[in-house]
Amino acid sequence: MFRDAEPLGNADIARFPASVWRRYDKLKRFPSGYLVFGDAISSFNPRYGQGMSVAALQALELQRVLSERTFNLASEFFTRAAKVVESPLR
Ligand SMILES: Cc1cc2nc3c(=O)[nH]c(=O)nc-3n(C[C@H](O)[C@H](O)[C@H](O)COP(=O)(O)OP(=O)(O)OC[C@H]3O[C@@H](n4cnc5c(N)ncnc54)[C@H](O)[C@@H]3O)c2cc1C
Repeated sequence: MFRDAEPLGNADIARFPASVWRRYDKLKRFPSGYLVFGDAISSFNPRYGQGMSVAALQALELQRVLSERTFNLASEFFTRAAKVVESPLR
């Protein structure tokens, strides 16, 4: 059966088939007025389709941090974003 199948398109090559997690949550200092988000914090192997979910969950955490008017916004956000990033890596 598989032998008779026809490809729907060309084979695609993942140029970066690995997951990367930049640990901004572990930095002792971070410039004020800047924030890192989504794939810039963590990018997942595209084969597993996790990147958009993680970016969306980070957006919710950012919304919460902003609504709390936290003094150290970036540091607080990175701590919460790390918990979001952790779950697909378990
Ligand atoms: C081949 C492939 C397949 C994938 N498939 C899936 C999937 O099936 N499911 C899934 O959940 N995730 C998938 N992902 C991952 C997903 O696309 C990303 O995790 C997600 O888009 C990250 O969102 P982001 O906002 O961090 O970055 P992006 O979506 O990349 O957004 C960044 C934006 O910033 C813009 N930008 C960049 N530099 C500048 C600049 N200097 N000035 C202004 N704008 C700039 C870019 O043009 C872009 O619009 C896939 C990724 C790849 C590469």
